[in-house]
Amino acid sequence: MGRPNVGKSTLLNALVGEHLAVTSHHPQTTRDRIVGVLTEKEAQFVLVDTPGLHTPRTRLGTRMMKEAQGAIEGSDIIVFVTDVGREPAPRVHEGDVPLLESLSVAPVVLVVNKVDRVKEKALLLPILVAYSALRNFAAIVPTSAKGKDGTANLVDALREILPHGERTYDEGTLTDRPARFFAAEFVREQILDKTREEVPHGVAVVVETYDESGKTVKIALVVVVDKESHKKIVIGRGGSLLKAVGTDARKRIEAMIGRKVHLTMWVRVEPRWYESDSRLVELGYGGAS
Ligand code: GDP
Repeated sequence: MGRPNVGKSTLLNALVGEHLAVTSHHPQTTRDRIVGVLTEKEAQFVLVDTPGLHTPRTRLGTRMMKEAQGAIEGSDIIVFVTDVGREPAPRVHEGDVPLLESLSVAPVVLVVNKVDRVKEKALLLPILVAYSALRNFAAIVPTSAKGKDGTANLVDALREILPHGERTYDEGTLTDRPARFFAAEFVREQILDKTREEVPHGVAVVVETYDESGKTVKIALVVVVDKESHKKIVIGRGGSLLKAVGTDARKRIEAMIGRKVHLTMWVRVEPRWYESDSRLVELGYGGAS
């Protein structure tokens, strides 16, 4: 867990070694709990990515917060992720204080991410000291999730405090999510990547068909947007943006499932879909509340 944009999804991907969670430069892109599974000879780590914690402004936001709380309650260890700026301040980020105070259940491991931004490593020490004065951490690990630096140290630290028990998943399992879920996520990721500010949070992607009976896997998706103007943006001039989204997403899906994919997409306008409880459930954002 941690504030939006500190690098939680990137970290999860670095740990699992597959590109599972959606990462982007837009905050709050992870709308769902995603489980990545890392299996070693004598240990198994089931990693849950929570939506960034923030004060919800829409019903979708409220649901994301519930997901985050649920993930925290069901965990054996909490990995609290924070990040540093290029010229890091030698103190605790003020947004982290209430979040850290709200954690009482499991052991907490602190990850100080994005250390690649800091050229002079001596600047990191006062930050680590400031955090350690705030509460008891089971471990404090500096990382660069992007450069996969320090991530092995994090696994070492977690292994030390993992409770003993049976493994939950088979050795080959990377995630408990079905491939169709990733088909939609990869398309959404590409849209976030290729569009600017206003569009991203108004986009949902729904899988209408997922047919793996033939030689190629046929996938049909609907991109739901909030406004007519967003539809134009997502489609792009002469369909260029949607085409680019489709090509890149298809490659990602093919790489993940190891089969050829035929992808079709269309865009539908549904004003304020993210404020309708029933629509949120249909779109796969949690149960009724
Ligand atoms: P989340 O919202 O906490 O899941 O954050 P993301 O994983 O989506 O990352 C947010 C942004 O930070 C993305 O642009 C990432 O590429 C970037 N990022 C993540 N980890 C690192 C890192 O170790 N170093 C740097 N410089 N950037 C990072």
